[in-house]
Amino acid sequence: MGNLVRLDEILRSHNLKVTRSRIEVLKILQSSHKPLSHSEIMEKLDRSHSWDRVTIYRTLGEFIEKKIVKPVLSLDRATYFELLDSQSEHAHISCLECGKMECLEQDEYKFILEKSRGFEVRSTEILIKGICKECK
Ligand SMILES: [Zn+2]
Ligand SMILES: [Zn+2]
Repeated sequence: MGNLVRLDEILRSHNLKVTRSRIEVLKILQSSHKPLSHSEIMEKLDRSHSWDRVTIYRTLGEFIEKKIVKPVLSLDRATYFELLDSQSEHAHISCLECGKMECLEQDEYKFILEKSRGFEVRSTEILIKGICKECK
C-alpha cells in the first residue's frame, strides 16, 4: 500500500466521523502486508490507551460495510481483515500446517487469466491452501 492518502480523508469520504479507534485501525491495516485477525489488531494498538474489544470489532464491521476493509476467511473460517483497494484486489495462500496467510500479488496470476483465458478479474476471493517453505 504505497499510497499517501490521508487516513482522515478515507474516513470522511465514506461519511465516517474521524475517531481515534477508526484512525488507529486504519493505520494498522495500512502498514500490514498480510490480513490481520481481530486479536492481532488488538495487539498492535497503541498501548498507552485502553481499547475496547467491542469498539474495535464494531469499527471493523463499519469498515467492511463501507467497503474500506475486506474480510478474508482463513482455513479455520476465522475472519482476517485487510484494506480493500480495488487497484490491488488479490488472492491469498495459506499453510495447512502453521495456518499463516500471505497475500498473492496480482502479477502472480492475473496475467494468466487475462492472456490465456481472456478473463478480466473484477474481484477476488480465492484462498489457495498448501504447505509453506518453513513447514515443508
Ligand atoms: Zn507453514
Ligand atoms: Zn491480502
